[in-house]
Amino acid sequence: MNRREPWRDARPEGFRWPDGIRAAACFTFDIDAESAVLIDHPEAAGWLDVMSHQAYGPRTGVPRLLRVLDRQGIRATFFVPGYTAERWPGVIRSVRDAGHEIAHHGYLHEGARSAPDIETEERRLLRGLEALDHVAGVRPVGYRAPNWELSYGLPALLARHGFRYDSGLMDADHPYRLATGPEPGAPSIVELPAHWALDDWEPYNYLPGLTGSGVIASPADVIARWTLELEALADDGGLFMLTNHPFVSGRASRAVGLERLIERAKGLDGVWIATCSEIAAHVETLPLAPVVHQPPGLPSD
Ligand code: ZN
Repeated sequence: MNRREPWRDARPEGFRWPDGIRAAACFTFDIDAESAVLIDHPEAAGWLDVMSHQAYGPRTGVPRLLRVLDRQGIRATFFVPGYTAERWPGVIRSVRDAGHEIAHHGYLHEGARSAPDIETEERRLLRGLEALDHVAGVRPVGYRAPNWELSYGLPALLARHGFRYDSGLMDADHPYRLATGPEPGAPSIVELPAHWALDDWEPYNYLPGLTGSGVIASPADVIARWTLELEALADDGGLFMLTNHPFVSGRASRAVGLERLIERAKGLDGVWIATCSEIAAHVETLPLAPVVHQPPGLPSD
């Protein structure tokens, strides 16, 4: 049997972690707050009940999560829509001052499928950059697409505006080089893949008529399956990319569960807990062939 068949090693060719490391974990927080509702329902700006539900993130969730991260002695990445930064400037500055990474998450949490053209996507990107600079003096190197919605043109836009990584594509367990176009020699950035199953929105979030089924999962169940994924990815040498929202996972028992998960990650031998930008900086040093994404052709009738 040929032991060199590539599928026998879970790691892509050329990929390795730093010496002494066998896998990595990123704990990330998307501070969507009001923006994720207002983009689809601007009329909700007049609904105090819904706005208070979203404000739980910056008002209560972020401080609680900062305490968790401080107790555990780890740094995280916070993806911040520009609108959130402008509405909650003191909160965003508190994240920055606690030593965590701040990255880009749109301006008003705009999904790519609502953009009629790439110029619209670029305007949103620039407006988000201006807000983070104005509020926190931060120039982010990372981007996460709101709703995980990406257009094929976005990687090139990110590279053109100096971003070094994206986090949100779902085709890999390991970070990789993301080509910005099909032509040879096209610039590339780093991709840090994510997945819906490692996003707290689906199991926990419920706003009547707006999102969720009304079935709210127990943190005990959610943390159990995230722990299984953490352990499985650690065994495969992959990247555990967890996406939480302060208005969702900043709730008391969910934050307790998250802290237990962080403790589990710290207890696994050789698992590197790092910010997204730290992971991306490592991946930039590797001899990886960029992955080119192109739309599949549709069959003719
Ligand atoms: Zn979001």
